[in-house]
Amino acid sequence: APILNILDNEPLLYPQQLKLWQWMAQYYMCAEGDIMQAAVPANFKLSSESILIWNDFFDDTDLSHLDEEEYLLAEALSIKKELRINEIQKILDSSHVYPIIKKLIEKNICFIWEELKQKYSVKKDTFITLHPNLENEKALEALLNNWGKAPKQLELLLAYLHLKRTEQEVTQSNLLKKATASAAQLKGLLEKNILVAEKRAVDRLPRLDSISSVNIELSEAQNIALQSIENSFQTNPNCLLHGVTSSGKTEIYIKLIEQYLQQDKQVLYMLPEIALTAQIINRLRKHFGASITIYHSKFSPNERVEIWNKVKSGEAKIVLGARSAILLPFQDLGLIIVDEEHDTSYKQTEPTPRYNARDTALYYATLFKAHVLLGSATPSLETFHNCEQKKYGYVYLGERYGNVQMPNIQILDLKSLPKEREERIIISPLLKEKVEQVLQQGKQVILFQNRRGYSPYIQCGTCGWIPECKNCNVSLTHHKHKNKLSCHYCGTEYPLIYTCPACGGHHFIQKNFGTEQIEEVVCEKFPEAHVGRMDLDSIRGKHDHEAIIQLFEKKKLDILIGTQMVVKGLDFENVQLVGVLDADSILNFADFRVNERAFQLLEQVSGRAGRRNEAGNVIIQVTNTHHPVLQFLVKHDYLSMYKYEINNRKMFNYPPFVRLIQVFVKHKDKMVAEEAANLLIEGLKYFKNNITGPAEPVINRIRNQYIWEILIKLPKDAKIIHNFKLSLLQQVAYIQNFKKYRGVIFMPDVDPN
Ligand code: ADP
Ligand code: ZN
Ligand code: ZN
Repeated sequence: APILNILDNEPLLYPQQLKLWQWMAQYYMCAEGDIMQAAVPANFKLSSESILIWNDFFDDTDLSHLDEEEYLLAEALSIKKELRINEIQKILDSSHVYPIIKKLIEKNICFIWEELKQKYSVKKDTFITLHPNLENEKALEALLNNWGKAPKQLELLLAYLHLKRTEQEVTQSNLLKKATASAAQLKGLLEKNILVAEKRAVDRLPRLDSISSVNIELSEAQNIALQSIENSFQTNPNCLLHGVTSSGKTEIYIKLIEQYLQQDKQVLYMLPEIALTAQIINRLRKHFGASITIYHSKFSPNERVEIWNKVKSGEAKIVLGARSAILLPFQDLGLIIVDEEHDTSYKQTEPTPRYNARDTALYYATLFKAHVLLGSATPSLETFHNCEQKKYGYVYLGERYGNVQMPNIQILDLKSLPKEREERIIISPLLKEKVEQVLQQGKQVILFQNRRGYSPYIQCGTCGWIPECKNCNVSLTHHKHKNKLSCHYCGTEYPLIYTCPACGGHHFIQKNFGTEQIEEVVCEKFPEAHVGRMDLDSIRGKHDHEAIIQLFEKKKLDILIGTQMVVKGLDFENVQLVGVLDADSILNFADFRVNERAFQLLEQVSGRAGRRNEAGNVIIQVTNTHHPVLQFLVKHDYLSMYKYEINNRKMFNYPPFVRLIQVFVKHKDKMVAEEAANLLIEGLKYFKNNITGPAEPVINRIRNQYIWEILIKLPKDAKIIHNFKLSLLQQVAYIQNFKKYRGVIFMPDVDPN
């Protein structure tokens, strides 16, 4: 990894962060530099002072595996030996040079030397105050009474006095807006020493005010849970709060957070997806107001610098963040809450570092002797198993807040229905009837389907040909609204096809259905209803999700159609009915975790129904009605699901009984990738009983890279795992010494999702 040259007056972080990065690099098999890249705001890093240096060990001149731009840069480097970033931009005639540099670094052709220079610029604002001479009332009165000409200036002054009554500080821009005046008119007042202007630095981050602070009273069950958590923390720093959906976990977190704030400790509250948590932010604001800092990857680099500094100085007391918040430089962390700890979004799969923020949190906390509270209605098998082994404390909260019943789940057998021609049934007659009833009562409906687009693929009705992506071996999804076919793996879009290139046929069949098609059908079947859709396509903008959630909250929408997104942690009071339109697509997934994941997803979707007053209803449309997961789901029986599934894992040797490591070997030439994968295994002979593969994954080519995968199951023995990792890295380095394999990418993924 490149060594950094730190030139700041004070360190950018504390020893705890360096320790965390070391641990992550070791555990997740990546470079510490990768973690630094992910952690440190861009403004602290790449400046035009960065220098790219040719790797002397790479004096071989065979650069034929590089693509055009990579080649151009590598060639220039091989001659000049070092290049500054601005020189590189000139050579490549582009400002987007970092992806290309990154590729060359990955291929060991060069490395980057950086002088850490803060590019961060302070934001400044101009504030207006009354001149000190006018601070006593008499002087001001006299001035106003004897005002001569310049009526616009008088208007400005009055506007200032008016604003001053409600605002703590008056900015120049606010004042000019209020008085619809120009800067030149203001200048007159400044010159007459009536008003004073001062320019000074301000925060970029908006201050959160506390909205009417309400005092929550925990229910008896919640109180018992809170006390049990506190007791558990006396003997074990980690605890799981297993509380059924709508049991009021958030309120318990709030009470707990208060205690750590009183001890002047920092608190990190992690959520799987910040995009969807406007609701939680509002709930926390009611209690903690301005002491909450929000963090996720959508902030601008300048904003990230401000957050970084606030967390580091300890000024940020509560940080509410998505997975990357675990990389912030906390000074004195007392508590980490990992809400929805089972959620797969905590694992970063792309790009490296491929870390799980929940597991990283457990380690990070040890460096501060902090506590970790994991929360979920459907804990991950790993976590529940750890509780069983007494590694974590365990607290169960089995009733919903307000004693609302758990939703009633009804399984609808799609096989029992007559097929509507060759198409799949989207809304069964039973579901249609229930939706109508609920709408009549003025209640709301959520319809769930975990596929976006119009249909997952289309097929020639004559010869069976299916359009595929040019860069990936996957079929293309039909997006009717855009009138396009699109690849969900590389993002490439293609015009819709009307003539089959294989047989010339003109009849295409829509295979299966996504949210877009559901929206069309729902609007047809319920013409009176207001319908909204929430999926990746409908919420491209930064605030789109909030807008849809708000419309639904305010009952401006009757039916909300959505993917996973509608599941996570949302709390709507008026949802009476949830429909899962195609549960088979969830249950028939080929993965050893399918049962666990399907249960979690379906229990969480169901959990959106009937969160206040009366119990809600859930209808699950499915053909595979005897699937064991459904039997557990109908009874909301997590424990039986756990027992059933943990047995499978034990029998077939899967986590939590082994440590899983997956290695992807990628190259644009299929043979080269396969050979490299086989070479890798050869070098790991000592572990041959632990290795399966190399195998081609179902989707064996993405973005023109062929993929081979190797799966390794290791006993949970630190020494063995350590030795394995060393051998793996050594073998990778050895293989990359061969010219032929220089372009091969090896991607280890520890604890893959
Ligand atoms: P969970 O996260 O366990 O699914 P929530 O924390 O969202 O549950 O709580 C469900 C609903 O019950 C929320 O609308 C919440 O405001 C309400 N609620 C929970 N506990 C209390 C309480 N002690 N007082 C008032 N309302 C509560
Ligand atoms: Zn055809
Ligand atoms: Zn593609």
